[in-house]
Amino acid sequence: MSTAITNISSLVTNDPSLGDGPLGLVQDAAVVIDGDRVAWIGASSKAPATDNAVDAAGRAALPGFVDSHSHLVFAGDRTAEFNARMSGQSYSAGGIRTTVAATRAATDEQLEANLLRYLGEALRQGTTTLETKSGYGLTTRDESRALRIAAAHTDEVTYLGAHVVAPEFADDPAGYVGLVTGEMLDACAPHARWVDVFCEKGAFDGDQARAVLKAGERRGLIPRVHANQLGHGPGVQLAVEVGAASADHCTHLTDADVDALAQGTTVATLLPGAEFSTRARWPDARRLLDAGVTVALSTDCNPGSSFTSSMPFCVALAVRDMGMTPDEAVWSATAGGAAALRRTDIGRLAPGARADLVLLDAPSHVHLAYRPGVPLVSAVWRAGVRHQG
Ligand SMILES: [Zn+2]
Repeated sequence: MSTAITNISSLVTNDPSLGDGPLGLVQDAAVVIDGDRVAWIGASSKAPATDNAVDAAGRAALPGFVDSHSHLVFAGDRTAEFNARMSGQSYSAGGIRTTVAATRAATDEQLEANLLRYLGEALRQGTTTLETKSGYGLTTRDESRALRIAAAHTDEVTYLGAHVVAPEFADDPAGYVGLVTGEMLDACAPHARWVDVFCEKGAFDGDQARAVLKAGERRGLIPRVHANQLGHGPGVQLAVEVGAASADHCTHLTDADVDALAQGTTVATLLPGAEFSTRARWPDARRLLDAGVTVALSTDCNPGSSFTSSMPFCVALAVRDMGMTPDEAVWSATAGGAAALRRTDIGRLAPGARADLVLLDAPSHVHLAYRPGVPLVSAVWRAGVRHQG
């Protein structure tokens, strides 16, 4: 079954061989979808005959958003903590334990229903690929069930047993690292593609984080790191050292951190929802881009520090407050996320790519930043299936 989407005013392909600039922009474009793949891209007037036709009527289109960092297997709520923070209290890593208690107490069915709710919410806002993590169980049983539930609904699953030290090990962090790199890893590795660690004061130091990542690698998992969110620390340089796919947050960077990212292959994933929701200093995307670092944008959707599933919101923040141009922010929210997940089939629209496409109720992708907070997503295709609009 083939479908032609015609009369697209402005199409972001992220393939410079198909159109103008790094976004590979094509004006007055058409996209032909065949099954779950893109079959053809070109001028609307030259679109080939297909089984179905959709008239975009002058709307803009872009690849589905790739949200490469979220924490959606959880239960409970942290409204009170957010409210207190917005009344003057500061954020620390410890609030995670509130969600841990609620998540442990929840049934599998409750966790799955919650996950599906937020996956649906993200899809309606144009997210067609979403990574998600464990990290609110902190026992072998609870971490492995979180990953099992996540793996039933997304391909990009990350083992984050090393989110914070479990409360039972408050006086024995080394013992907890032993569990995370031993029995818990054995139970979790079959359900995950990635291993992650929160390398931050109040969570895990550089040596502990290295041990977690190396143990994961030995079980076939690829590293990614929560790095330099709350202050300077070893996380970013550790991520580059171990060849992590991504260093996430990157808010507090030294020149040596920026140099390391520029020389390595690790993507810098910026999560402006976290700075927004904790009233923290913005990451400096301009500095990273000017140094030649590949930058991704993601939501960090979680109940504590960034309870948004909206990639358009993150694009708007990145443009307004982090020094990105609208073109750069849109690239980072699509192709950048794909790079952070080491995927070449998503984050771009070209023949052979997965047919993940967002149609905007706007004439240009720039409107994602120009019209912040407005629900511009009018239709979403994921793997060739239309989900909305
Ligand atoms: Zn996170």
